[in-house]
Amino acid sequence: MHDDRRVVESRIDRTIRERVKPAVHPLTVPLAVESWTCPGEPVPVAEGLAAPYQPAAVGDPWGAPWGTTWFRFTGEVPAEWAGRAVEAIVDLGFGLDQPGFSAEGLVYRPDGTPVKGLHPRSHRVRMPGSGPVSFHVEAAANPLIIGPVTMLGDPATAGAAPLYRLVRADLAVLDETVYDLATDLDVLVDLMRQLPMDSSRRWEIMRACERALDVLDLFDLGATAAAARDELAPVLAVRAPDNAHRIYAVGHAHIDSAWLWPLRETVRKVARTAANVVSLMDDHPELIFGMSQAQQLAWIKEHRPEVYERVREKVAAKRFVPIGGMWVEADTNMPGGEALARQFSHGKRFFLDEFGVETEEVWLPDSFGYSAALPQLVRLSGSRWFLTQKLSWSTTNRFPHHTFDWEGIDGTRVFTHFPPVDTYNSELSGAELAHAVANFAEKGRATRSLVPFGWGDGGGGPTREMLARAVRTKDLAGSPRVTIESPRDFFAAAEAEYPDRPVWSGELYLEFHRGTYTSQARTKAGNRRSEHLLREAELWSAHAAVLGLLDYPYDDLERLWRTVLLHQFHDILPGSSIAWVHREAQETYARVETELGAIADRARRALAGPGDAEIAFNVSPYPVDGVPALGAEAATASDNREEATATTSIGGIVLDNGLLRVVVDARGLVTSLLDRTADREVIAPGAAGNLAQLHPDLPNRWDAWDVDAFYRNTATDLDTADAVEVVRPGELDEGAAAVRVVRTFRSSTITQLLTLRPGRRRLEIDTEVDWHERETFLKLAFPLDVAADMSSSEIQFGHVKRPAHTNTSWDAARFEICAHRWVHVGEPGYGVALANATTYGHDVSRQRRPGGGTTTTVRWSLLRAPRFPDPETDQGRHAFHHAVAPGADVPAAVREGYAANLRLRTVQGARGVAPLVEVDHPGVVVEAVKLAEDRSGDLVVRLYEAWGGRARTKVRVSVPVATVVETDLLERPTGEIRTEGMTFRPFQIRTLRFSLAAPEGSGGGRPTGAR
Ligand SMILES: [Zn+2]
Repeated sequence: MHDDRRVVESRIDRTIRERVKPAVHPLTVPLAVESWTCPGEPVPVAEGLAAPYQPAAVGDPWGAPWGTTWFRFTGEVPAEWAGRAVEAIVDLGFGLDQPGFSAEGLVYRPDGTPVKGLHPRSHRVRMPGSGPVSFHVEAAANPLIIGPVTMLGDPATAGAAPLYRLVRADLAVLDETVYDLATDLDVLVDLMRQLPMDSSRRWEIMRACERALDVLDLFDLGATAAAARDELAPVLAVRAPDNAHRIYAVGHAHIDSAWLWPLRETVRKVARTAANVVSLMDDHPELIFGMSQAQQLAWIKEHRPEVYERVREKVAAKRFVPIGGMWVEADTNMPGGEALARQFSHGKRFFLDEFGVETEEVWLPDSFGYSAALPQLVRLSGSRWFLTQKLSWSTTNRFPHHTFDWEGIDGTRVFTHFPPVDTYNSELSGAELAHAVANFAEKGRATRSLVPFGWGDGGGGPTREMLARAVRTKDLAGSPRVTIESPRDFFAAAEAEYPDRPVWSGELYLEFHRGTYTSQARTKAGNRRSEHLLREAELWSAHAAVLGLLDYPYDDLERLWRTVLLHQFHDILPGSSIAWVHREAQETYARVETELGAIADRARRALAGPGDAEIAFNVSPYPVDGVPALGAEAATASDNREEATATTSIGGIVLDNGLLRVVVDARGLVTSLLDRTADREVIAPGAAGNLAQLHPDLPNRWDAWDVDAFYRNTATDLDTADAVEVVRPGELDEGAAAVRVVRTFRSSTITQLLTLRPGRRRLEIDTEVDWHERETFLKLAFPLDVAADMSSSEIQFGHVKRPAHTNTSWDAARFEICAHRWVHVGEPGYGVALANATTYGHDVSRQRRPGGGTTTTVRWSLLRAPRFPDPETDQGRHAFHHAVAPGADVPAAVREGYAANLRLRTVQGARGVAPLVEVDHPGVVVEAVKLAEDRSGDLVVRLYEAWGGRARTKVRVSVPVATVVETDLLERPTGEIRTEGMTFRPFQIRTLRFSLAAPEGSGGGRPTGAR
């Protein structure tokens, strides 16, 4: 037989493109158009419907950046269309083919009922089959944000020129047979192209398509489409073999809670998407749609109650499925321990309260790497499974598994799946399905994978075309078997079929997007401060409440927690959103800090009582300056610890407090850091600490996200100073001594205070940067004379160890690492802790030591200045606090981390207060003290083992207790507990719930705070 394959395939392509698809809508009439440009921010729907519309026309420009235009479309279905399916076709002039990144619209009936979203891939709305038609579209002129630099990301700089032009507004007949033919051909041709050239199935499909085109009359497709479908039916009926890979397709829309649009636009994006999905479900009863991020459902509830009602109906029918169990799809590198726990407790509680649904799958397809603390938190939240696909984005190493057990730092394992389709926005195309099968690493041992399908980011989720593909690939030879299922059904089946799974231990590090630990420094600082203020506000409020002094501020704390949790979304805290988002985040964090400060202060004053003594409150889990952990005492006059001194010598300024002796030279660099207790020099020979370094920082792909390894090839040391001077004692706390260093370079200035305090074995560094650089990475280096194989970095509820060397490609790829409050490097018998109050990015490297051996350099990442998506990222003033603690082991590093982030707070009052909660093992840390979320007045205490060892401790509560139980993160009892001798395994998190006894002499009931 002659090989005519290319000719036949070309014929098929052209006929589909130029004849079949246009014939789906064979008859059209134009709609009349009117419009109203909304001044300023979006208005409520009723206002938009009742606005003073003006005549408009197809071809008219509309939409200043971030503006909203309301359109009204009216027309009459021609009488001769009677009995045929009718649709409106509206093309807002989206400007590109990818949904979610340009203009979007939501269609309303005249009574304000939302019908469906309009997107670049969704122009059609079903209409009544006869009579007059009328509908409105709320059209959002969201600009297309593309690099390398755009000013469109903030209305303040975006200008007012219209971005879009109305392209089409018609009523049309939908020829459903031609539409079905188009879908048959789409699926078969797509499958054919995935099959090997020598497969008979490929040729069988090609010949069937050829026969279908032969019977199709190109001048009357409507009359011949059914005959053409008959030619295709036999090849569509060939069934998949029993061992075909099984794909569980889950309808989804990955909606970034803010990114290239502000939070307020996400509120509309989720409403459009949910409206779209529930309306699609009316026509397609097989659709199951999973929606993650409780916050997004809370927005629909608050802003679009009519859409929420429809969602609730579909949830009750188990078709609209809440998934994920988190408040948002958070970043998991940077949120603190308690905050990550609250992502789960707030997320899961919302789904339980609103829908009675206990989510069991944690759904984080897109976050930028996954903390090794997650497995324990997932299980403690009552969830069982974990999903992401993001590690397929790693640029160096290929992750070995798609289905495996993931083991966290405490040893907890969680069943984990990486969809091998490598996307969370699948269209269920033949190419994607084939890739999922070919890519699946568990072949021969497991047979199932999950495919999330649907347009995200306001693209409306699944489409009828995707559902049509799913119907045809349900059991089709050559294709994996595709069924639409819930994530729960997938996980249960996948777990059951694969009992002897491989195990991956430790973090899931994304070898990409390493700049997100540093970009948008103010957003990071706001998060860190808010997390610690929440600790203060909760502890002191709970303490005051159980003593009957104040009501517990449940509503305020819930609202403030949820605000902080929202901003941990994976494009806000990582710094990868437009300027508008980060400007608003800064304002929000300032408000949060003010409110939390006031809540904590009110509680401290209530606890201290009226009086004029200075009472110092210590929120830290460790004693500070004689004030017990979690307690308050009258501030004492300074004790007889040696005061720090500053003297000038030949080598520079010498700071000395009897524990450390620090030499700062004329360059402002630390040339000596002598640990006098250990009699050991800490700075690497021939090197100097406190060295600020600049690197060019223009990554290849994603500016705000990435720092590429080659940045290190070029460095500029900032080793000249404008001023290096002793700070006058009057400017400092009593007994402290400090050096001020000022450097100007290029367009920027760094001003630092290097401080020693009495009795503290740490050098504190306060750095102010007035930053006006572009595409430049600023690091602060401490070369240390320790030979460290590994560095330890604090993460949530513990720490991870990472190699300091670059033996393997996996080690080398971790050239930038994320740490919370501290990093520790050491050798047996001696180590150094490096603590910080606002930064997350670090790098640790080894150098050859003059005279033999190796030294270790730790660098803090302070600032970057990427220009996309925010062209002005990080410009202006920043303040950082860091500390170097020589002679620290890991337990000391844990203490240094808290010390750098929590301060004693002094109020005027009458009395100190004994700690509400005490533990007697220093490795067991009290992470949270609060009242129960169910508002029963119960006291909740969360503790964890912080050193990575085993511990036994007594937990004492200073108020009378009736009962105590252990609970999960949602404060649901999991078992009895004896608080006299609680044991902890390494990094174990345990939550205790105390119901309090009625105070003596009271008439019963709870001490306080209960409702
Ligand atoms: Zn995302």
